[in-house]
Amino acid sequence: MRVAIVGGGIGGLATALFLRLAGIEATVYEHAAELREVGAGIVVAPNMVRQLRKLGLLEALERCAVRLEAAWEFRRWQDGRVLFSQPMGEACERLYGAHCYVAHRADLLALLLRALPERQLRLDHRLTAIQQNEHETKLTFCGKSGDQSTVVADVVVGADGIHSTIRQMVAPAIEARFSGLCAFRCLVPSAQAPEMALRPVQSLWLGPGRHFVHYPISGGRLVNVVGIVPAGNWRSESWTAAGNIPDMLREFDGWDERIRQLIGAATDTKRWAMYDRAPLEKWSVGRITLLGDAAHAMLPFFAQGAAQAIEDAAVLANCLRAADPDSVAEALRRYEEIRRPRANEVLLMSRGREIRNHLADGPEQQQRDAELANGDPLRQSAWLYGHDLDAGLAQ
Ligand SMILES: Cc1cc2nc3c(=O)[nH]c(=O)nc-3n(C[C@H](O)[C@H](O)[C@H](O)COP(=O)(O)OP(=O)(O)OC[C@H]3O[C@@H](n4cnc5c(N)ncnc54)[C@H](O)[C@@H]3O)c2cc1C
Repeated sequence: MRVAIVGGGIGGLATALFLRLAGIEATVYEHAAELREVGAGIVVAPNMVRQLRKLGLLEALERCAVRLEAAWEFRRWQDGRVLFSQPMGEACERLYGAHCYVAHRADLLALLLRALPERQLRLDHRLTAIQQNEHETKLTFCGKSGDQSTVVADVVVGADGIHSTIRQMVAPAIEARFSGLCAFRCLVPSAQAPEMALRPVQSLWLGPGRHFVHYPISGGRLVNVVGIVPAGNWRSESWTAAGNIPDMLREFDGWDERIRQLIGAATDTKRWAMYDRAPLEKWSVGRITLLGDAAHAMLPFFAQGAAQAIEDAAVLANCLRAADPDSVAEALRRYEEIRRPRANEVLLMSRGREIRNHLADGPEQQQRDAELANGDPLRQSAWLYGHDLDAGLAQ
C-alpha cells in the first residue's frame, strides 16, 4: 500500500508511526525545509498519553515532559483565591489508565520525529495539486527552489493543518469562525517566575472577559503562560505573529500582582486571533482523507487538538491495516465513521467554554464558582479522557 501523508506536524508524524505499527511504510511530505514548532506549551492529556504508549514513546515523554502530579487549580482573578483544586496524579492514572503531562511543543514533535526513520520524511515538499482516479492518486509538489516533483499513491492523508489545501478538495468551502478572542503566549524562565508558577500544577485564573493559564514545562526550566483576552482589532491567525508585553500587561490590569509579575518576566510574546471551523460533514473523497486540524480545527479550551489528531492517526492506521489498494475507499469510510462524531463533539464542546470561563463578576459567576467548588472535573471528563478507541474499532 502506497500511503502519502501531507503535513509533518504532530498529526502527520503520528500517522506515519501508527501505520508502521500496522506494517505499512508511509511517506510524510512536509512544506517546511526544517521541522520546527512554535515555542509554546502543550497539555498531553491522558487520552493522548495512552496512544503515545502504544507507540512505545511513554518513557521518552516522561523524560521531556512534566507530569501533573499535584493538581488542576482554578483561581480567582483578583486575589488568586483557590476556587477549586483537584489532585491529578494517582486519581488520573486510576480513572484513565494514564497520567496527564505538560510539555514543550518542540519536545513533543522531536519525540515523534526521532521514532520515524529518516527515509519516511521528505522536507521542502509543498503540495500544490492532487488528482485521483479510480485506481490511484497523483500528487504534485513544489520545493523552495521552484523544482516540481510528482508522486503516485494509493491513499493520501491530508494532515496539512488548519489552512489545509486538501480540505478544499474534500469539503465545500467553509468559512473560519472568529471567536472574538485572541491568545497571548509566552515562555518565562523559571528563575524569574513567582514561586506559585513553579509547582507541577495546571493553573487557570478566571476573570471577567478573559482567563489566564500557566504551567511549568521543559523539566521545570520554563513556565508556559497563556492569556486569552478580547481580540479588539487583532485578526491575525498566524501562530508566529509577535504581540507585545505592555499590551498583554494592560489586559490584566487590576489582576493579582503575581500574574502581572509572571507576564512582566517574559521577554517576548506571540499573539493570535482565535478562529475555529464548522464541523465537516465528510472527511474523505475516494482515496483522499483528512486528519488532525485539517479535519477538525478547534478552539484550544479543552487542550485537545493534538490529542484528537493522534486518536485519528491510531484509528486510521487500524482501518488501513486490513485494506488493500482496491478497498481503500471503504477503509477511509470506516475511519471517518468512527472518528468524525467524536472529533466534532470535542470541537463543539470547546466552543462552549468561551462563555463559561469569562463570566463577569455577578450571580452567574458565583454559581459557576460554587459548581467548581463542589464538582469533580476529573471524573466529569470521562467522556474526553476515558474514551475507548478500541471499542469503536471492534464494532
Ligand atoms: C493556543 C493553542 C493551544 C493549544 N494547546 C493544545 C494542548 O494543550 N493540547 C492539545 O492536544 N492540543 C493543543 N492545541 C491544538 C494543537 O496544537 C493542534 O491541534 C495540532 O498541532 C494539530 O496538528 P496537525 O498535525 O493536525 O497540524 P499542524 O501542527 O498545523 O501541522 C500541519 C503541517 O502541515 C504542513 N503543511 C501545510 N500545508 C502544506 C502543504 N501544502 N504541503 C505540505 N505540507 C503542508 C505544515 O507546514 C505543518 O507542518 C493548541 C492549539 C492552540 C492554537
